[in-house]
Amino acid sequence: MRILFASTSEPLEAWRPLLAQALPHDELVLEPDPSVEVALVAKPPAGTLSRLRGAKLIQSLWMGVDGLLADPELPRGVPLARLVDPGMVAAMTESVLAHVLDWHRHLYRYREQQRAATWRALEQRLAADRTVGILGLGALGAAAARGLAALGFRVAGWSRRPKAIPGVHCTTRLEELLPISDALVCLLPLTSATRGILDARAFSRMPAGGCLINLARGAHVVVPDLLAALASGHLAHAYLDVFEREPLPPADPLWSHPGVTITPHIAALTEPRTALPKVVANIERVRRGETPLDLVDRQAGY
Ligand code: NAP
Repeated sequence: MRILFASTSEPLEAWRPLLAQALPHDELVLEPDPSVEVALVAKPPAGTLSRLRGAKLIQSLWMGVDGLLADPELPRGVPLARLVDPGMVAAMTESVLAHVLDWHRHLYRYREQQRAATWRALEQRLAADRTVGILGLGALGAAAARGLAALGFRVAGWSRRPKAIPGVHCTTRLEELLPISDALVCLLPLTSATRGILDARAFSRMPAGGCLINLARGAHVVVPDLLAALASGHLAHAYLDVFEREPLPPADPLWSHPGVTITPHIAALTEPRTALPKVVANIERVRRGETPLDLVDRQAGY
């Protein structure tokens, strides 16, 4: 089988030996051609997707597929699978816990106090005093919810379809989640229904003094509304890992905003060692003529 690797973001040098070892009888190619059966893609070079009309599977090497779905070159008839990588899920849970604890333990404020050489203890709260609301209870949101619940936080989560996660208050009603979310974590896919969902209206429904943690996609946040919520003190802090324009331009005022902690889209990176079994399993399914796993619902947009 001819397998294409086409990515401007993922390291070929890490994937090549792993794929060669797992699939010794298959051929890995770096240029699309009509005989490619499976394409492994993440931010593929321009012109790649339009040459994959004959493929049996386009396998994303990222969990989010909004970029691929927005590409007019994506062939309509070819199944598209997203990656559900256990290493990424673990990394995202760690990122969520790190940001929630930074806010909960006032570490962002102690960093400010350090700059002013101020020695002052801030009020300690118990994890059980805080509710963390999670937007999206999919592969990433559900795992993060379990991790937060294990630390003793009250956890609530929002999804499109009803969910049941032990120890987590699951709802399909956003208006129920926002007023109880002291910290709001966004782990939604970017779709027409979720673009701009973190706006003035959403922030105003949250309790005063809360924080926003956006680890999903930049376009979920209406930045001017976020800046207004920070300026008024309604939101205490924002942790932003993703931006509409990446890399965030050096002149962007978000970089130096005292109420914002920025990371460069690293909340969860694809981990080839843990992603490989998922990718290989889907290639084997294609070989056997079976339906691949984790197919994207193009209608829903994720
Ligand atoms: P997923 O498994 O597809 O889960 C998405 C969740 O969002 C599901 O619970 C889904 O509800 C819910 N949802 C979608 N549309 C909704 C709507 N309109 N209203 C309410 N809930 C809605 O996705 P995932 O693997 O957890 O990944 C989530 C996103 O994280 C990705 O799409 C990607 O953009 C982002 N991500 C970021 C990084 C990073 O490093 N910053 C890394 C990986 C992924 P249902 O359960 O009802 O379908």
